[in-house]
Amino acid sequence: MLGLYVHIPFCSAICNYCNFNRGLFDAALKEHYVQALLREIEMQGDGAAADTIYFGGGTPSLLEPSEIAALIGACRTAFAVSGDAEISMEANPETVTPARLAGFREAGVNRLSYGVQSFRDDELQRLSRLHSANRAAEAFGMARSAGFDNISLDLMMWLPQQSTAQWLESVDALIALGPEHASLYILELYPNAPLRDTMARSKWSLAPDDDAAEMYLEAMARLDAAGYEQYEISNVARPARQSRHNLKYWTDGEWLGFGCGAHSTRRGVRWKNLSSTTEYIAAVASGGQTAVERRVLTDREALEEALFTGLRLTCGIDVDTVNARYKSDVWGIFGIGLERFREAGLLIYDGRLLRLSRAGMLLANEIMSEFVGSTVVD
Ligand code: SF4
Repeated sequence: MLGLYVHIPFCSAICNYCNFNRGLFDAALKEHYVQALLREIEMQGDGAAADTIYFGGGTPSLLEPSEIAALIGACRTAFAVSGDAEISMEANPETVTPARLAGFREAGVNRLSYGVQSFRDDELQRLSRLHSANRAAEAFGMARSAGFDNISLDLMMWLPQQSTAQWLESVDALIALGPEHASLYILELYPNAPLRDTMARSKWSLAPDDDAAEMYLEAMARLDAAGYEQYEISNVARPARQSRHNLKYWTDGEWLGFGCGAHSTRRGVRWKNLSSTTEYIAAVASGGQTAVERRVLTDREALEEALFTGLRLTCGIDVDTVNARYKSDVWGIFGIGLERFREAGLLIYDGRLLRLSRAGMLLANEIMSEFVGSTVVD
């Protein structure tokens, strides 16, 4: 089954750490963009079966419910979207009202993912977010009242000036609200992020690396105790509430992305759409090519990718299945490089399943780098 991703690149303000493909909201541009999306979905449609639709951004909740309804309708016309499809929308707490949420629900959205980031106002202000902690909790309650029974909340850890105790306040506040799903990310500062300058000017610092590890491990322990199951390095869920859409990225699945900068992977081919919103709209309007960077994955790249993404999951990789699918010998190829991680207890391999221990998740990038460009020995 395909996953369908729809990118909405508009935000009310640009956060000082953000490195996503987004720009400031412009009502006229948004109208042209939605028309382009409808046309692209129609052009790409081939009636294939799909079981997830995901509106990501940017801030998809800046669209009108009628626009979201039209986009879902276009997906249903162009693809065989299953009746029980997971239809997710990212939302920012300051953009929602009871009426808008009811409209999104009526449009067919059945899973909401709020970018909360922190339940402390001082931290939200340092991140230049537009909402307060109270507003985030209020938006959560509004979504429940509107009938959303599948809600995810995002938090970010290792923020400027954040202590472990302050981070855990946010984790506890999240647990108290009781969402079905949560994503916990470590703040990553890209080289030219405005937040870097602000941090230098304001003399804000990050906690030591050891504290970041403690933040992660203690947060996961509290979420475990509250009945959440970790299923991916950064994601936990109530039983059966994992993100079906995001699991496609981690389980060697196939998806089509619509909109500027959206990525697609299907039948061994990967491509990415034009990043610029205006260039994307112009390309669709002229019937031209929206995709750039189209390439066929080599067998070796597809194998590395399956391992790289599969290891993000707590259930790990079924090595026999991967060997059969890629006519490969995973441990024969990568075992030499991975053995030291297994000896250190960071990686677990029982002859069939290969997975990271929780301590190994903290060093995931280092361990996964063994999969890229290793010497082929089989
Ligand atoms: S709301 Fe999200 S996408 Fe928009 S600027 Fe902030 S972090 Fe980036």
